[in-house]
Amino acid sequence: MDVSRGCERTNGFCSFCTEPLINGRYRERPLKDTLEEARSISKIGVKNFRFGRAANFLAYGSLLNNGNPNIELFNELYQEMAKIAEIIHTDNANPAYIIKHKNVIKKLLEIIVKYNTAGDILSFGIESFDKNVVLKNRIDILPEESFEAIKIANEVGNIRDKNGVPKLLPGINLLFGLIGETKDTFEINKRYLEKIMEEDLLVRRINIRQVMAFPGTLIYNVKPKQHKRDFIKFKEFMEKYNHEMIKKVFPVGTILKDLIIEEIKGKVSFGRQLGTYPIKTGIIGNLNLLEKVDGIVVDHGSRSITALKYPFDINNASLEELTAINGIGKKNAENIILQRPIYNLDDLNISEETKKIINLLRG
Ligand code: SF4
Repeated sequence: MDVSRGCERTNGFCSFCTEPLINGRYRERPLKDTLEEARSISKIGVKNFRFGRAANFLAYGSLLNNGNPNIELFNELYQEMAKIAEIIHTDNANPAYIIKHKNVIKKLLEIIVKYNTAGDILSFGIESFDKNVVLKNRIDILPEESFEAIKIANEVGNIRDKNGVPKLLPGINLLFGLIGETKDTFEINKRYLEKIMEEDLLVRRINIRQVMAFPGTLIYNVKPKQHKRDFIKFKEFMEKYNHEMIKKVFPVGTILKDLIIEEIKGKVSFGRQLGTYPIKTGIIGNLNLLEKVDGIVVDHGSRSITALKYPFDINNASLEELTAINGIGKKNAENIILQRPIYNLDDLNISEETKKIINLLRG
């Protein structure tokens, strides 16, 4: 659902952005209209909502509050939505707005986290961690501030409910081909991403793109030099990085509720949860299309995860299911099957590490 159009910035616009060109000055939809629409469509069966499209969802209501976060409005919005919605998710949030209002923004984030559905993402247009690029492209947030915004979102949102996944995490957008970009830009971005990992902060997803220059934007006239080879190398770096990050966001043993099966390939059924940017999950076994199942995470790729149907029962699990558990391997899986029925893991002739993983899966 749309809540606003345009960008609420008052100090200029980013060099590549078409939002002010397409949508003009920043304006908001009255809360009562938003709620009226939500209630009307809920009556005909719509139960899953995302506040999308706005350039900065967190600024909704700020026009009525001197540009400041409107806690009261968010309270009402979420309380009312919770009465009709099964899923409430969000979309774009300007990290610079978080930093400018860091004294009160946590209250607003806490309201979101109280009522939203787990797996929610605030998409941060960080664009670059290279200060030189930030300044030359009129991006409104310095690299250290971007890092701080990620930290603030984690402090409030990195909590898990029965759904297993964190309630609210930042997503990051990075843009390459901007004015002032050099080969160093790629290294600087890598260093910041590594720092995020080292400090145990979670990012649900990182989108990297090459800039597209549209007439009317500053970048269209400058036409900066592109570093295509460095961009390809950066993408390779991201494959490994995403793999590590996914392990942290969805550790082994995480339970994913209500995965909807969308595709079956060989002995794996692929499903996703309904929501914003849901992770592709390969569930071992042939399930039915559109069936809703719970899964428990056993392994990770760079963009997807492997899960077993939950609840997991070691005495009924197939060889494929047991083999799919990261760290078990086919030999251990066969050993487990030969020694069934299993009442006590200590009776099993398998490594302590394997026992630990199985214990995790059994809950
Ligand atoms: S902050 Fe976002 S919406 Fe505003 S000008 Fe920059 S990119 Fe565009």
